[in-house]
Amino acid sequence: MSQRRPLIAGNWKMNCLRTDGLALARGLSDRAKAKGDLACDILVCPPATLISDVAGVTAKSAVKVGGQDCHVAVSGAHTGDIAAPMLADIGATHVLVGHSERRADHGESSTVIRQKTMAAHDAGLIAVVCVGETEQERDLGATLAVVNGQIAVSVPDEATAENTVIAYEPVWAIGTGRTASVDEVAEVHAAIRAGLTARFDDGDKFRILYGGSVKPSNAAELLSVPDVDGALVGGASLKVDDFWKIIESCA
Ligand code: PGA
Repeated sequence: MSQRRPLIAGNWKMNCLRTDGLALARGLSDRAKAKGDLACDILVCPPATLISDVAGVTAKSAVKVGGQDCHVAVSGAHTGDIAAPMLADIGATHVLVGHSERRADHGESSTVIRQKTMAAHDAGLIAVVCVGETEQERDLGATLAVVNGQIAVSVPDEATAENTVIAYEPVWAIGTGRTASVDEVAEVHAAIRAGLTARFDDGDKFRILYGGSVKPSNAAELLSVPDVDGALVGGASLKVDDFWKIIESCA
């Protein structure tokens, strides 16, 4: 059992129109209120269109709300982008940065992700910095080098365990139904922890989430791995029952 309080985060990605998104948020918020004392922190990251409304629905519960991305700048001529202070302004407390879908679809480098992380911190947001190797990189035996290299550049020197969470998400396990084995997860999380403690005074306090096809049936096993301090959940975060079962796996 880790001394760090687990965080269970839902990444809704580009899913949910208003009715479904608000029903999902209300379902989670009602359960969190009914449960009272929770064994973990809960975060949902809806599409930007729903952040404000979801934050309204969850305001009186333990469910926190985050964005899925932010721009490096605070304002300006960046059509279609969203600045970190805008997320904070509508009730977000967190933001995902460097998700592999952003790295792949939008060509985001670890250098840009570091700038986004700093923008998030400046806006008072907790940055959830995502890293992970591709299947090819794993087959080449490069997993630890890739992940530690991404963290070295994506996480700024001023980061603390208070304003930064790491999410390890092997790209080949995202949305595929394939999950990394307990041994694979343990090896990478231990390497991430070693890197964080070597670099940061409070490196032992950073939360390191696992992501990639986390579901009710495998959550308890994954969450019991040393240095796994929670989960970043995609598909299974879109159903109240499934996400709640993952939350209850922390107990
Ligand atoms: P998944 O997505 O749980 O659907 O694999 C995880 C993620 O991309 O954050």
